[in-house]
Amino acid sequence: MQDQHGRRIEYLRISVTDRCNFRCRYCMPLEGLPWLPKQDILRYEEITAIVRELAPLGLRRLRITGGEPTIRPDLAELVAQLRAVPGIEDIALSTNGVRLPELAPALAAAGLDRVNISADSLRPERVVEIARRDLGFDLVRAASAAESAGLAPIKINVVVMRGINDDEVGDFAALTREHPWHVRFIELMPVGELRELTWDHVVPSAEILARLAAQGPLEPFAGPARGNGPAVYHRYAGAPGSVGVITPMTHTYCERCNRVRLTADGRLRTCLFGDHEVLLRDALRRGEPLAPLFAKALAEKPLAHELLQMRVGGLKALSQVGG
Ligand code: SAM
Ligand code: SF4
Repeated sequence: MQDQHGRRIEYLRISVTDRCNFRCRYCMPLEGLPWLPKQDILRYEEITAIVRELAPLGLRRLRITGGEPTIRPDLAELVAQLRAVPGIEDIALSTNGVRLPELAPALAAAGLDRVNISADSLRPERVVEIARRDLGFDLVRAASAAESAGLAPIKINVVVMRGINDDEVGDFAALTREHPWHVRFIELMPVGELRELTWDHVVPSAEILARLAAQGPLEPFAGPARGNGPAVYHRYAGAPGSVGVITPMTHTYCERCNRVRLTADGRLRTCLFGDHEVLLRDALRRGEPLAPLFAKALAEKPLAHELLQMRVGGLKALSQVGG
């Protein structure tokens, strides 16, 4: 599977719901969003049918995301179905971690390989301030549960916001000296309708790296063994974990992009930003072949996103497109 720019597509991010039990300030308004009607959302069997058609074309890696994927009932059932598709080598989950202590063993048993946990603070009251829901989330508890279940490597995503949580960069980095966890600091993307967070809240990765270096000498690190995407990693001498930055705002890595996205309502999106998407769901439900639709989607995959040019038309909240 190649797009019209010769990039090989082997990675699919699958959104299983647009809903969430959090309301992170940078992602979702407090009142929620206009949710997709239930009948429009792909059933697990339909998601698996799409993956089964894409695998022979070169699809190798999957990530289950949302919205918050763990609020969809029986997520382990989907994992088991996807695990059974020949050719799929790696299945990861992106989650806010709230339900991990409860779900990690079943997800691992169903065949999940690893998790990325989003966590923007280690302080309970600040978690509530940012996520705007008090669900008792505790990163160390969630990551430890995932680790005990054998999900590895564990990656932790921190969206850094100036004046909101940027004073915790050092605390997150300290975790990597004790645990084999890979903390990635993400530049805030001021997307969606959320005007509350602006470009003034973006902390550029160079500044994050300078703060990390102030905590002790860093050495280059190739990154955890599996699933290396756009992050650049470093490590403190002797530390079991690593620190890294993901830089959507100050760099582009579009030329290496190997991914496409499946939205919860069955659209294949070829770029996180903009409106490049093809609806697969109706053709699938009519029993029609999907290959021509895959070809159409890939032929339209843009060479690079336009966030940097600040042409932000068409941007959606990440929860709506499977961020
Ligand atoms: N609910 C899951 C979670 O939070 O990990 C999966 C979906 S969430 C949309 C995926 C990732 O997008 C999270 O790591 C979140 O922090 C990130 N994200 C959402 N909105 C963002 C924004 N405006 N800027 C940077 N990252 C964002
Ligand atoms: Fe929910 Fe994830 Fe968006 Fe936070 S970032 S509101 S946890 S979908």
